[in-house]
Amino acid sequence: MALIKCPECGREISDKAEACPGCACPMSAEPDYVGREAQTTEKTSKEWKTGQLVGGGFIIVGLLSLSSGAAEGCVVFCLLGVAIIIGCKTAAWWYHG
Ligand SMILES: [Zn+2]
Repeated sequence: MALIKCPECGREISDKAEACPGCACPMSAEPDYVGREAQTTEKTSKEWKTGQLVGGGFIIVGLLSLSSGAAEGCVVFCLLGVAIIIGCKTAAWWYHG
């Protein structure tokens, strides 16, 4: 949560507030748009990190299954892990250019 200045009275209010508590000026158009933009970026990078984690987990499971003699499972899990990581990277690139 961040504090923004009310464009009408200059009072510092929460960027989550729908209206200024001092002068009731509605906090709609611009600050809300900026907040949404930041949220989307944050969400995407979080998904990207989660995907990296999941992909890494798949690769680890694949390597573990190799040590227990399941070579086929190893290949499948490693490929899945790599695919997930590449997929997330592509998605992050797609959304952010
Ligand atoms: Zn105000």
